[in-house]
Amino acid sequence: MKTIGLLGGMSWESTVGYYKAINEGVRAELCGLHSAKIAMYSVDFAPIEKLQHSGDWQGTADILVDAARKVESAGADFLLICTNTMHKVAPQIEASITIPLLHIADATAEVLVAKGIKKVGLLGTAFTMEQPFYKGRLSEKYGLSVVVPDENDRRIVHNVIYTELCFGECLSASKAEYLRIINSLAEQGAEAVILGCTEIGMLVQQPDTSVTLLDTTSIHAEKAVKAAI
Ligand code: GLU
Repeated sequence: MKTIGLLGGMSWESTVGYYKAINEGVRAELCGLHSAKIAMYSVDFAPIEKLQHSGDWQGTADILVDAARKVESAGADFLLICTNTMHKVAPQIEASITIPLLHIADATAEVLVAKGIKKVGLLGTAFTMEQPFYKGRLSEKYGLSVVVPDENDRRIVHNVIYTELCFGECLSASKAEYLRIINSLAEQGAEAVILGCTEIGMLVQQPDTSVTLLDTTSIHAEKAVKAAI
Protein backbone atom coordinates (compact mmCIF):
# COMPACT_ATOMS: atom_id res chain seq x y z
CA MET A 1 0.00 0.00 0.00
CA LYS A 2 1.26 3.47 -0.91
CA THR A 3 1.36 6.34 1.58
CA ILE A 4 -1.24 9.05 0.94
CA GLY A 5 -0.05 12.63 1.47
CA LEU A 6 -2.64 15.10 2.71
CA LEU A 7 -2.38 18.87 2.87
CA GLY A 8 -5.16 19.52 5.36
CA GLY A 9 -6.60 22.06 7.74
CA MET A 10 -8.50 24.11 5.15
CA SER A 11 -10.63 23.83 7.10
CA TRP A 12 -9.88 21.05 9.58
CA GLU A 13 -13.62 20.32 9.69
CA SER A 14 -13.40 18.99 6.15
CA THR A 15 -10.04 17.26 6.69
CA VAL A 16 -11.80 15.08 9.29
CA GLY A 17 -14.05 13.96 6.42
CA TYR A 18 -11.03 13.04 4.27
CA TYR A 19 -9.36 11.10 7.09
CA LYS A 20 -12.55 9.11 7.78
CA ALA A 21 -13.45 8.48 4.12
CA ILE A 22 -9.92 7.34 3.21
CA ASN A 23 -9.68 4.96 6.15
CA GLU A 24 -13.18 3.59 5.47
CA GLY A 25 -12.23 3.12 1.81
CA VAL A 26 -9.09 1.16 2.69
CA ARG A 27 -11.01 -0.99 5.17
CA ALA A 28 -13.68 -1.70 2.53
CA GLU A 29 -10.99 -2.81 0.06
CA LEU A 30 -8.62 -4.73 2.35
CA CYS A 31 -10.94 -5.71 5.24
CA GLY A 32 -10.01 -6.53 8.83
CA LEU A 33 -7.83 -4.07 10.68
CA HIS A 34 -6.33 -2.52 7.55
CA SER A 35 -6.18 1.27 7.60
CA ALA A 36 -4.67 3.92 5.35
CA LYS A 37 -1.01 4.93 5.45
CA ILE A 38 -1.25 8.72 5.64
CA ALA A 39 1.30 11.53 5.99
CA MET A 40 -0.59 14.72 6.73
CA TYR A 41 0.38 18.34 7.31
CA SER A 42 -2.54 20.31 8.73
CA VAL A 43 -2.04 24.07 8.43
CA ASP A 44 -3.34 26.96 10.55
CA PHE A 45 -6.22 28.17 8.36
CA ALA A 46 -6.61 31.72 9.79
CA PRO A 47 -3.57 33.29 8.06
CA ILE A 48 -4.43 31.50 4.81
CA GLU A 49 -8.01 32.81 4.86
CA LYS A 50 -6.69 36.36 5.43
CA LEU A 51 -4.26 36.05 2.50
CA GLN A 52 -7.03 34.66 0.24
CA HIS A 53 -9.38 37.54 0.97
CA SER A 54 -6.64 40.13 0.50
CA GLY A 55 -5.72 38.56 -2.86
CA ASP A 56 -2.22 37.53 -1.75
CA TRP A 57 -2.24 34.14 -3.45
CA GLN A 58 1.57 34.03 -3.61
CA GLY A 59 1.52 34.27 0.20
CA THR A 60 -0.78 31.24 0.38
CA ALA A 61 1.41 29.39 -2.12
CA ASP A 62 4.51 30.01 0.03
CA ILE A 63 2.82 28.40 3.05
CA LEU A 64 1.46 25.44 1.10
CA VAL A 65 4.68 24.78 -0.83
CA ASP A 66 6.54 24.52 2.49
CA ALA A 67 3.86 22.18 3.88
CA ALA A 68 3.80 20.04 0.73
CA ARG A 69 7.58 19.55 0.88
CA LYS A 70 7.21 18.38 4.49
CA VAL A 71 4.53 15.88 3.45
CA GLU A 72 6.83 14.56 0.73
CA SER A 73 9.77 14.23 3.10
CA ALA A 74 7.49 12.41 5.58
CA GLY A 75 7.24 9.63 3.00
CA ALA A 76 4.08 10.36 1.00
CA ASP A 77 3.93 8.71 -2.42
CA PHE A 78 1.45 11.26 -3.79
CA LEU A 79 -0.32 14.40 -2.57
CA LEU A 80 -3.89 15.60 -2.16
CA ILE A 81 -4.67 19.25 -1.40
CA CYS A 82 -7.79 18.86 0.76
CA THR A 83 -9.59 21.98 -0.51
CA ASN A 84 -10.92 23.01 -3.89
CA THR A 85 -10.06 26.69 -3.46
CA MET A 86 -6.38 26.20 -2.79
CA HIS A 87 -6.01 24.38 -6.10
CA LYS A 88 -5.61 27.94 -7.33
CA VAL A 89 -1.97 27.52 -6.33
CA ALA A 90 -1.74 23.85 -7.38
CA PRO A 91 0.75 24.68 -10.19
CA GLN A 92 3.23 26.20 -7.70
CA ILE A 93 2.80 23.26 -5.30
CA GLU A 94 3.15 20.68 -8.07
CA ALA A 95 6.33 22.37 -9.29
CA SER A 96 7.92 22.25 -5.83
CA ILE A 97 7.58 18.50 -5.16
CA THR A 98 8.62 15.35 -7.01
CA ILE A 99 5.60 13.20 -6.04
CA PRO A 100 2.41 13.42 -8.14
CA LEU A 101 -0.51 15.66 -7.19
CA LEU A 102 -4.01 14.17 -7.47
CA HIS A 103 -5.96 17.24 -8.62
CA ILE A 104 -9.47 17.48 -7.12
CA ALA A 105 -11.01 18.89 -10.33
CA ASP A 106 -9.58 15.99 -12.39
CA ALA A 107 -10.98 13.41 -9.95
CA THR A 108 -14.40 15.10 -10.14
CA ALA A 109 -14.37 15.56 -13.91
CA GLU A 110 -13.53 11.88 -14.42
CA VAL A 111 -16.72 10.95 -12.53
CA LEU A 112 -18.76 13.41 -14.61
CA VAL A 113 -17.35 12.09 -17.88
CA ALA A 114 -18.02 8.49 -16.79
CA LYS A 115 -21.65 9.45 -16.07
CA GLY A 116 -21.96 11.10 -19.50
CA ILE A 117 -22.74 14.50 -17.95
CA LYS A 118 -22.01 17.50 -20.18
CA LYS A 119 -23.46 20.47 -18.27
CA VAL A 120 -22.77 20.79 -14.56
CA GLY A 121 -23.51 23.27 -11.76
CA LEU A 122 -20.72 24.36 -9.44
CA LEU A 123 -20.96 25.46 -5.80
CA GLY A 124 -17.91 26.54 -3.84
CA THR A 125 -16.19 29.62 -2.53
CA ALA A 126 -16.44 32.77 -4.67
CA PHE A 127 -12.83 32.09 -5.73
CA THR A 128 -13.76 28.65 -7.05
CA MET A 129 -17.05 29.75 -8.65
CA GLU A 130 -15.68 32.90 -10.29
CA GLN A 131 -12.03 32.36 -11.22
CA PRO A 132 -10.78 30.27 -14.13
CA PHE A 133 -8.43 27.89 -12.25
CA TYR A 134 -11.25 25.40 -11.54
CA LYS A 135 -14.07 26.11 -14.04
CA GLY A 136 -11.49 26.53 -16.80
CA ARG A 137 -9.91 23.16 -16.08
CA LEU A 138 -13.35 21.47 -16.23
CA SER A 139 -14.22 23.09 -19.55
CA GLU A 140 -10.84 23.12 -21.31
CA LYS A 141 -9.57 19.69 -20.25
CA TYR A 142 -12.88 17.80 -20.14
CA GLY A 143 -15.24 19.78 -22.41
CA LEU A 144 -17.75 20.37 -19.60
CA SER A 145 -20.10 23.32 -19.60
CA VAL A 146 -20.17 24.85 -16.10
CA VAL A 147 -22.97 26.96 -14.60
CA VAL A 148 -22.63 28.90 -11.37
CA PRO A 149 -25.25 30.71 -9.25
CA ASP A 150 -25.97 34.43 -9.80
CA GLU A 151 -24.00 37.02 -7.85
CA ASN A 152 -26.36 37.19 -4.89
CA ASP A 153 -26.50 33.41 -4.51
CA ARG A 154 -22.72 33.12 -4.91
CA ARG A 155 -22.38 35.52 -1.98
CA ILE A 156 -24.73 33.36 0.12
CA VAL A 157 -22.83 30.15 -0.72
CA HIS A 158 -19.45 31.80 0.00
CA ASN A 159 -20.51 33.34 3.31
CA VAL A 160 -22.03 30.12 4.62
CA ILE A 161 -18.71 28.35 3.93
CA TYR A 162 -16.51 30.83 5.79
CA THR A 163 -18.85 31.84 8.65
CA GLU A 164 -20.61 28.54 9.36
CA LEU A 165 -19.25 25.38 7.73
CA CYS A 166 -15.57 26.10 8.51
CA PHE A 167 -16.70 26.40 12.15
CA GLY A 168 -18.52 23.07 11.95
CA GLU A 169 -21.94 24.75 12.03
CA CYS A 170 -24.68 23.31 9.81
CA LEU A 171 -27.80 25.48 10.05
CA SER A 172 -31.15 24.39 8.62
CA ALA A 173 -31.78 27.84 7.11
CA SER A 174 -28.50 27.60 5.20
CA LYS A 175 -29.30 24.09 4.05
CA ALA A 176 -32.64 25.34 2.67
CA GLU A 177 -30.81 28.13 0.80
CA TYR A 178 -28.28 25.68 -0.66
CA LEU A 179 -31.08 23.35 -1.80
CA ARG A 180 -32.90 26.30 -3.43
CA ILE A 181 -29.68 27.26 -5.26
CA ILE A 182 -29.04 23.65 -6.34
CA ASN A 183 -32.58 23.51 -7.79
CA SER A 184 -32.07 26.75 -9.66
CA LEU A 185 -28.85 25.38 -11.23
CA ALA A 186 -30.81 22.28 -12.33
CA GLU A 187 -33.50 24.57 -13.80
CA GLN A 188 -30.75 26.25 -15.81
CA GLY A 189 -29.92 22.87 -17.36
CA ALA A 190 -27.28 21.49 -15.00
CA GLU A 191 -27.50 17.68 -15.09
CA ALA A 192 -25.61 17.45 -11.80
CA VAL A 193 -24.12 19.83 -9.22
CA ILE A 194 -20.53 19.72 -7.96
CA LEU A 195 -20.20 20.36 -4.23
CA GLY A 196 -16.94 22.11 -5.04
CA CYS A 197 -15.96 22.97 -1.52
CA THR A 198 -14.83 20.25 0.84
CA GLU A 199 -17.17 21.38 3.66
CA ILE A 200 -20.45 21.44 1.68
CA GLY A 201 -21.04 17.70 2.12
CA MET A 202 -21.44 18.38 5.84
CA LEU A 203 -24.55 20.49 5.03
CA VAL A 204 -26.14 18.86 1.97
CA GLN A 205 -26.18 15.19 1.01
CA GLN A 206 -27.67 13.19 -1.87
CA PRO A 207 -30.85 12.11 -0.01
CA ASP A 208 -31.77 15.83 0.38
CA THR A 209 -32.39 16.37 -3.34
CA SER A 210 -33.27 14.64 -6.60
CA VAL A 211 -30.48 16.58 -8.36
CA THR A 212 -27.33 14.44 -8.75
CA LEU A 213 -24.63 15.75 -6.39
CA LEU A 214 -20.89 15.24 -6.69
CA ASP A 215 -19.22 15.61 -3.31
CA THR A 216 -15.62 16.53 -4.04
CA THR A 217 -14.41 15.34 -0.61
CA SER A 218 -15.65 11.79 -1.10
CA ILE A 219 -14.64 11.68 -4.77
CA HIS A 220 -11.12 12.91 -3.97
CA ALA A 221 -10.80 10.50 -1.02
CA GLU A 222 -11.97 7.58 -3.16
CA LYS A 223 -9.40 8.47 -5.83
CA ALA A 224 -6.70 8.46 -3.15
CA VAL A 225 -7.73 5.02 -1.93
CA LYS A 226 -7.60 3.63 -5.49
CA ALA A 227 -4.18 5.18 -6.04
CA ALA A 228 -2.86 3.80 -2.74
CA ILE A 229 -3.94 0.20 -3.18
N1 GLU B 1 -12.52 23.82 1.93
C1 GLU B 1 -12.98 24.80 1.05
C2 GLU B 1 -12.80 24.42 -0.40
O1 GLU B 1 -12.86 23.26 -0.71
C3 GLU B 1 -12.87 26.24 1.41
C4 GLU B 1 -11.80 26.63 2.36
C5 GLU B 1 -10.62 27.16 1.61
O2 GLU B 1 -10.65 28.32 1.23
O3 GLU B 1 -9.68 26.42 1.37
O4 GLU B 1 -12.69 25.24 -1.26
